[in-house]
Amino acid sequence: MRADHQGYESAEEEAVALNPVFTRPGEATGFPRFTLPAGESLPETAYQVVHDEAMLDGNARLNLATFVGTWMDDHASRLFLEAADKNMVDKDEYPQTAAIETRCWRMLAKLWHAPEPARSIGTSTIGSSEACMLAGLALKRRWQHSRRAAGKPTDRPNLVLSSAVQVCWEKFCNYWEVEPRFVPISLEHKTLDGSALDQYVDENTIGVVAIMGVTYTGMYEPVQEIAAALDAIHAKTGLDIPIHVDGASGAMIAPFLQPELPWDFRVERVASINTSGHKYGLVYPGLGWIVWRSQKELPEDLIFRVSYLGGDMPTLALNFSRPGAQVLLQYYQFLRLGFEGFRTVQGGSRDVARYLAAAITALGPFDLWTDGSDIPVVAWQLREGHTANWTLYDLSDRLRMRGWLVPAYPMPEALSAITVQRIVVRNGLSRDLAAGLVETLKTEVAFLDGLTGPMPGEKRVAFHH
Ligand SMILES: *Cc1c(COP(=O)(O)O)cnc(C)c1O
Repeated sequence: MRADHQGYESAEEEAVALNPVFTRPGEATGFPRFTLPAGESLPETAYQVVHDEAMLDGNARLNLATFVGTWMDDHASRLFLEAADKNMVDKDEYPQTAAIETRCWRMLAKLWHAPEPARSIGTSTIGSSEACMLAGLALKRRWQHSRRAAGKPTDRPNLVLSSAVQVCWEKFCNYWEVEPRFVPISLEHKTLDGSALDQYVDENTIGVVAIMGVTYTGMYEPVQEIAAALDAIHAKTGLDIPIHVDGASGAMIAPFLQPELPWDFRVERVASINTSGHKYGLVYPGLGWIVWRSQKELPEDLIFRVSYLGGDMPTLALNFSRPGAQVLLQYYQFLRLGFEGFRTVQGGSRDVARYLAAAITALGPFDLWTDGSDIPVVAWQLREGHTANWTLYDLSDRLRMRGWLVPAYPMPEALSAITVQRIVVRNGLSRDLAAGLVETLKTEVAFLDGLTGPMPGEKRVAFHH
């Protein structure tokens, strides 16, 4: 057996080999891949294996596909280590972390213009996905209560959303058995903008989702126009349909860069807003936030009461235990940066995005979808008729060979024939790095344009929004 598979059961189990520099007398020189090792190893040895394996992950700074934070300063890293053992659910053991969580969402409630922040209610979550699940559940439960009160059936709830929603909304509808009613985006209506909304809503509609920062393109959906359309429907039919704003990225951009734009609780129909602390909240992965306008928007029967220092602590979450450190990191960023600091950081990202948008336009073969003036995202498509020899998938491959991750993917449903490519500008993509990327783009576009026939290779479509 040893001869065949180095002592492991099958080829698949072949050892994760240890660098000989780190092997020690009497210790294994490798670990089984899918079987719990039979015995112990030294911590240094195990560390080295995990460290070396993780090194094979990409360089996060060159990953322009993700919205998620990949850099925090040394003080944040110190706090992160100090707080690594804190469990968010354990409000009894960590009352101060719980108090800081409350301070954070109250700050967000104010930032998002809740009429009475003290009457708002909110929580941290593991990310925007969990926050969106909670938002959807609150919409569904409110709708159920009012239907039951009216003696009407509650078996066919639906949710109206753009065809360009993030996948978490499809999950919500699937997991909680709500019919998704997708309003297809089109070249005339590049976002959900309220037009034709009356054809999608009815008495079974639990709410409408508006996205601040569509993942495909980075565009804001006009929350005010969606609300106006729903106001008209209300006046005409009596249906009073609330809006949830999915501000995973934009809810931490718009308050700083577009303060005049009313997209938040200033729009009366907005019942709740979520954001990802780990996106433009500038915290490491594992943090989301949700705030409801007031306690009225969050049915009491979704809240669990746990005893807390003799008092009572409301909790609302899908998971029980979850890390508390990220909440402290968010508080750190709020204190460290304040409003002005956030404005400067987000403004810096927007400037880089605009610079990239202009440079990419100047390359010639591309038409922009967005130029970074909503969230700091640039998305473009290949100009029709430019070439039959290559696609944005090929360009994405060429950039990947140079270390840059710049995904290409099809647009949703009705526009799925269109491929777009997207750069998410995050804090850490400096103007210098961006200029390096533009040079690489120039070289690779020139290479592809120099082809005398179609670029060989398979089309890749796998991409997770
Ligand atoms: C990223 C994103 C989500 C999901 O957020 P996570 O924090 O990754 O769970 C939901 N909606 C939108 C619009 C997003 O951009």
